[in-house]
Amino acid sequence: MTTPGDRGVARPGAWWRLGPFVEPATFQVAFTIFYALDAGFRVLFGYRFGLLSGPGLGAVAAGVLLVVALVVPWERLDPRLSLVLPVADIAVVGVTRLSPEGGNGMLLVFPALWLGRTWGRIGVWTTGVATLLLVTVPALLYSAPDPILMGRAVFFPLVAGAAALVIADGMERVRLGRAEAERQRDRLAEALETIDHQQRVSQAIFDTTDVGLILLGRSGEYAGMNRRHREFLELAFPEGHRGRAGQLGNVFAADARTPLEMEDMPSYRASQGEEFDDVRMWVGDDPAERRALSVSARTVRAEDGSFAGAALAYHDVTDFMRALRVKDEFVALVSHELRTPLTSIVGYVQILEEDETLTPRAQDQLQVVHRNAERLRRLIADLLDTAQRDGRPMPINRTTADLAAIVVESVEAARPAADRAGVGLTLSAPDRLSLGLDPQRIAQVVDNLVSNAVKYTEDGGHVAVRLSVDADRAEIEVTDTGIGISAPDRERLFTRFFRTADAASRAVAGAGLGLSITKDIVESHGGRIEVESEPGRGSVFRVRLPLQA
Ligand code: ADP
Repeated sequence: MTTPGDRGVARPGAWWRLGPFVEPATFQVAFTIFYALDAGFRVLFGYRFGLLSGPGLGAVAAGVLLVVALVVPWERLDPRLSLVLPVADIAVVGVTRLSPEGGNGMLLVFPALWLGRTWGRIGVWTTGVATLLLVTVPALLYSAPDPILMGRAVFFPLVAGAAALVIADGMERVRLGRAEAERQRDRLAEALETIDHQQRVSQAIFDTTDVGLILLGRSGEYAGMNRRHREFLELAFPEGHRGRAGQLGNVFAADARTPLEMEDMPSYRASQGEEFDDVRMWVGDDPAERRALSVSARTVRAEDGSFAGAALAYHDVTDFMRALRVKDEFVALVSHELRTPLTSIVGYVQILEEDETLTPRAQDQLQVVHRNAERLRRLIADLLDTAQRDGRPMPINRTTADLAAIVVESVEAARPAADRAGVGLTLSAPDRLSLGLDPQRIAQVVDNLVSNAVKYTEDGGHVAVRLSVDADRAEIEVTDTGIGISAPDRERLFTRFFRTADAASRAVAGAGLGLSITKDIVESHGGRIEVESEPGRGSVFRVRLPLQA
């Protein structure tokens, strides 16, 4: 923005300020000096003129104008009044030329530059018209019929006008350039204001959100954090935090007991460029006050792709974790209470089944009771397994056992169900395959996979079980031609209580625990489980167990 003190700076919008308002005295002094020099040189070289001649009157007029320019307080007057001076200068040149030798027409350059610079286009026109009326017309009248003088007289307005035009154009360009620069400056100021506003809005959002947020710098220093995260820090580091990732404090693993090592601290991992989701931990020493947090981290990259820091979000999941624990305790309690009467039911049913006096109908009904009691028993065992372990690894009792026999037994156990469902069941296995494993747990794995394959295959379908061995591992493969599993469902297949919508809608019995337990058993044997499937075409579950424990 311009200020009243900005002499010489264009002010767009006011026509009389088209060019910078340079004090009339400056131009008038310059004009007078050059006028005096011109006259002085002529006198020096022997030219003599009387006071009442053209040059004489011109000299007097120039002197008077200089005094006027110096004395009049132009700043306080309407700037348009200063137009009078350059026009009067043109008249002085006109008068000076009314002599046989003629004054120097080049002096017209001063008023022309003055007018062009200060008044722009108006100055150009004023120069042209004033030169025409005050220099050309009198000169034509005076010098006729001398062709050289007449030619010069006509030429003056053109030259003076051109000089005024050149300077006016230059000034216009400067003015436009300045106006553009000013616009840019205004736009920049506006943009800065917007950024500032947005920063304040972001900070407000940052502080209102219920999630703890921190931003780590390139070398793991805390570059920013919100109010919520400060609360978590106070719990975790009652002695204070040094503002650098990886500081040890009252931070515990998901079991709420094991203190986290530096390499396991989410902030340290994020500062090493790791990205993760839902890493659970507890902060705080006092069991009544401590909070459970679920932490996610994302890396921030510089333009060239290098590590520039990380952003971490700490979600308070205390209520969820406590609810999970209560649920697990409840499930464990209920399953435990159910198991004892159920064991006795199964025992008595087995005794009854051996009673040959029963009618065939009663035997059939008893088998149904037996099957369902077995199912209940397995479900309760699965529930207990899941609830009691509470995220801890599955304990296994390794002995040397024949895996081929385990697989054969599982397949035969599933055969009655397969027959009832109209599903073909085939097995291909070596005669013997001895290796170190927990036979009961591995039997549970094969039982789960085979019974799933039968359960999720429709009448007329087929299930093939194959046991094979190579140099360093045994492979159990269960292939079915059943309903299949979509890609998104496959991602969650091994999580507790997960069932596909397809399975649930077909009213196939199940609790969604079998596969999560299966995976735990396989992994605690050092093995891996994987699945390939296509909805509507069937699935292949493959378990690989190392031959060397
Ligand atoms: P469930 O007791 O429900 O069978 P699982 O943990 O064994 O529990 O299996 C989880 C879910 O995976 C099942 O509910 C079913 O939706 C899907 N599933 C498992 N095996 C198969 C299979 N062979 N074909 C299609 N879906 C399957």
